[in-house]
Amino acid sequence: MKIECCPYCNNTDPKVVLWVKDRQVMCLLCGALGSACSDKDDAITAWNRVSKAVKFYEYFKEHVDYDGEDSTISKFNSDEG
Ligand SMILES: [Zn+2]
Repeated sequence: MKIECCPYCNNTDPKVVLWVKDRQVMCLLCGALGSACSDKDDAITAWNRVSKAVKFYEYFKEHVDYDGEDSTISKFNSDEG
């Protein structure tokens, strides 16, 4: 299973590490950690999900106007009534 690159430092080769009994994907350049899972593929899946989410967040910050906390939600709610 392919491990996505680190979303924080763009390291293209994060490693699956074994802790006491869990496996986690770890970026050895910046120390970013994925979720701990008993299964290696689950650990990689969890890491890949975070990688995609962080990349989406970076895209969101650059391309979407966001003018403060809950602005979208409160606007949506007031439009309802
Ligand atoms: Zn990294």
